[in-house]
Amino acid sequence: DTIVHLDKITKRFGKTVAVDRLDMEIMAGEFVTFLGPSGCGKSTTLRMLGGFETPDEGRIVLAGEDVTGRPPNRRDVNMVFQDYALFPHMTVSQNIAFGLELKGKTRAEIDRRTGELLDFLQLSGFGDRTPEQLSGGQRQRVALARALAPDPKLLLLDEPLGALDAKLRAQVQVELKEIQKRTGKTFFFVTHDQDEALTMSDRIVVMNAGRVEQAGTPEDLYFRP
Ligand code: ADP
Ligand code: ADP
Repeated sequence: DTIVHLDKITKRFGKTVAVDRLDMEIMAGEFVTFLGPSGCGKSTTLRMLGGFETPDEGRIVLAGEDVTGRPPNRRDVNMVFQDYALFPHMTVSQNIAFGLELKGKTRAEIDRRTGELLDFLQLSGFGDRTPEQLSGGQRQRVALARALAPDPKLLLLDEPLGALDAKLRAQVQVELKEIQKRTGKTFFFVTHDQDEALTMSDRIVVMNAGRVEQAGTPEDLYFRP
């Protein structure tokens, strides 16, 4: 099933064409990675999916609905940022619960879902800590738990491993792919790191100057003649 259709979207900043008539579909449950050098239009695409930018042309269809002009809080999408953007004065549990509170869930529902996510992301016992009392990998998992909590249709990840050192990064790559598989969520991942893309993706979309240069499975792109 198609969960996202980017229907010939274009975004310009002055004379720069950041994204140039991008036309692609993302399947439900797919781990798609946008790979390419700085400035090729990865973040702009992700920001349009999230509702932080509006395309100048084209449409964004999410789960059959045209969401092109809709703000972030009115589309079923969540985002994980490179710097995690956790609330420093809130505990881990409060951070995870944040989106659920906004949605007006009951206390019981919030506690159940938060507990489930703490378990799922191996953070049991850390619920009452603040982010500064956690390791980098744990912070990353809290950010992921917070984004997963409201059960969004699509998760956007903008170089979320950029702040981790090389060793932890390799470990979190494997974990992240595992979490994506177990949740069956659709992940839209942005990176300039080819290894990261190869390790985790079902499909890699190689971007250059706002256009798709190549797309396929890691095997299609890198292991076949
Ligand atoms: P990437 O994420 O691949 O590094 P971006 O999507 O951030 O690329 O940027 C694509 C192009 O659009 C670049 O040339 C960048 O300088 C430009 N751009 C992105 N955002 C803005 C903005 N808010 N104002 C002006 N130019 C921008
Ligand atoms: P990334 O590392 O993901 O490519 P950047 O650090 O380039 O992102 O950009 C961060 C922010 O700055 C984004 O909101 C982007 O839209 C904006 N931006 C990027 N390039 C430009 C630019 N040339 N002029 C103004 N804003 C920009």
